[in-house]
Amino acid sequence: MAVNITTIRDQVQCKRCKKQYEIGFNVREKFVQIGAYILQNKDTMHHRAPSSWMYPTFPTCGHCNQQNSARPIIAKKKKFINWLFLFLGEMIGCCTLPKLKYFCKHTGNYRTGTKNRLTECTDQQKDLTRIAVMVAPH
Ligand SMILES: [Zn+2]
Repeated sequence: MAVNITTIRDQVQCKRCKKQYEIGFNVREKFVQIGAYILQNKDTMHHRAPSSWMYPTFPTCGHCNQQNSARPIIAKKKKFINWLFLFLGEMIGCCTLPKLKYFCKHTGNYRTGTKNRLTECTDQQKDLTRIAVMVAPH
């Protein structure tokens, strides 16, 4: 429990100006925000991911200020994908179905189904608990 990640960083590329650069999320802040969202909406989510996760809104570009433009650069090799970065950035929906299946398999939530279903399984309690353990104050 000595690991205390405060910021998670990864590369994004702007859709408009094509600049490639690194952005970071405050892990604890994002986790609290997403956790609160899930708690508030769990009755209406019906085991489905909210559409905001399926069709993510991307961050505003830090260079040209274009909104919804900084897209994550997703590693070609699945095992190098920065899942926590995508999850906390609410950008997990930009993964392709095989990648989501891989993610679910490796978090013990493997199931076949639609992309929506698979996106949803990323918000299962198990994953949140795991992330909570990583970001919780010690
Ligand atoms: Zn830009």
